[in-house]
Amino acid sequence: MKQWLKPSPVNGAPAQPKALSPDEVLQKINVYKRTTWVPVVDEEEQNILASKIGGRAYIPSGEEHPHCPNCHKELTLFLQLNPQDLPAPNDLDLEPEQLIQLFYCTSKEPHCEVECEAYFPFSKSVLARTLPLPATAPQDSLAVMAPRQFPEQTIVEWIEHEDYPDWHEMQVGDAQLSSEEVEVLENSELGIPKAADKLGGWPYWVQSVEYPLCPECGIQMQMIFQLDSKHHLPYMFGDMGVAHLHQCRLHKNRLAFGWASY
Ligand SMILES: [Zn+2]
Ligand SMILES: [Zn+2]
Repeated sequence: MKQWLKPSPVNGAPAQPKALSPDEVLQKINVYKRTTWVPVVDEEEQNILASKIGGRAYIPSGEEHPHCPNCHKELTLFLQLNPQDLPAPNDLDLEPEQLIQLFYCTSKEPHCEVECEAYFPFSKSVLARTLPLPATAPQDSLAVMAPRQFPEQTIVEWIEHEDYPDWHEMQVGDAQLSSEEVEVLENSELGIPKAADKLGGWPYWVQSVEYPLCPECGIQMQMIFQLDSKHHLPYMFGDMGVAHLHQCRLHKNRLAFGWASY
C-alpha cells in the first residue's frame, strides 16, 4: 500500500500561511493613492464668496435666491466651493473663475427629497451649478440671509490625507484585490476612503460604486466633494448616508449630486 507522506517543515514547526500585513496590501494599491482634503470650519461668515458648508450663498445681483420647483420654497445652500481658496496643487481641474454651488430642498412637507428622488443625480429638487466668480464681493448680498438656510461654516483650512479606493472599487477595478486583502485593509483602517466631508480623493460608497455619467458626453463624472451626514452639515442623508458632488471633466457646468445610505 502506498503511503502518502505529509511534507514536514524543516524545523518541525507547522507550516503557516504568512499573514498579510496592511503595508504589503497598500503597496499593491499604491498607484491608486490620491490626496484628499478634509475641511476645517469657522462659524463666522467671512466672505460671501468663500468656500463654505451651509450659510449664505453668493447670489449675483439682480437674481433671486433659487427655489425648489416642487414646493416653491427656498433651496438650502449645502456647499459653496471657490476654486481660488482650495488647496493647490490639486488634481480636480476646476475652472479658476467659476464658483461651484450646491443647493438642496430640505422641505419635509411636502417631502421633496422623496417626491423628487433627491438621492439620485439630476433630481429637480437639487441645484448643482457653476457661476462666474465676480471680481469683488457685492456688498448688498451680505445684507439678507434667505430663509431655510443652515448656519454658516466657512472653510478656513484643509487637512491633507492619503486616500485609496474603497473595497467596492478595489474589487471591480484593475487592482483586483482578493477579499482577504480587502479584509486586511478594513481591519487596519488603512487605505479605506474616509467617510467624512472632504474635497477630492476617493468616494466612500455606502451601497455600490455609483459614479454618474455626464448627460452630455456619457463619460463617468469625477467626485469633487463628499458630504457625510452630520459631519459639518446639520443634515442626515437617509440613515447616516454619504453624499457626493460630481463634475464632468469635459463639461465643467455639468454637476451631479447623489447619495446612498445604510
Ligand atoms: Zn421642495
Ligand atoms: Zn461631459
